[in-house]
Amino acid sequence: MLNQYRKKIKKKLLARLLHGNTVSCNVCNKSFTNFLTYLGRINAQCPNCGSLERTRLIYRFITDLKLVKPGTKLLHIAPDACLYHKFDKELGDNYYPGDKFEEGYSYPKKTRPMDVTALDFPDETFDGVVC
Ligand SMILES: [Zn+2]
Repeated sequence: MLNQYRKKIKKKLLARLLHGNTVSCNVCNKSFTNFLTYLGRINAQCPNCGSLERTRLIYRFITDLKLVKPGTKLLHIAPDACLYHKFDKELGDNYYPGDKFEEGYSYPKKTRPMDVTALDFPDETFDGVVC
């Protein structure tokens, strides 16, 4: 609990310190002087929502093509926390996040244990899959 509180404070401080107009995050719609370095990649992680390059690219693809709208039934495998919150808010019960639960990781609340190689949903259950 204390560790999560520290992470939240650190995130808020970084987002304020890096506030600027050089880069912008399409997931949280905030702008910064730069993104954070992540695993050696410069300008990779949004200091506000934590999205990485691939997450922002996936989200841009989805939003530009309007692939997710109210009523869309979406399966999301290994959901990034930032997209999880967006899709959960927009889709509610039509959002199905799933992941292969690994020890040492934490998963957003609604995430169900799921093996992507052995899904047990009937055909045509979903309108889309993000994996
Ligand atoms: Zn962001």
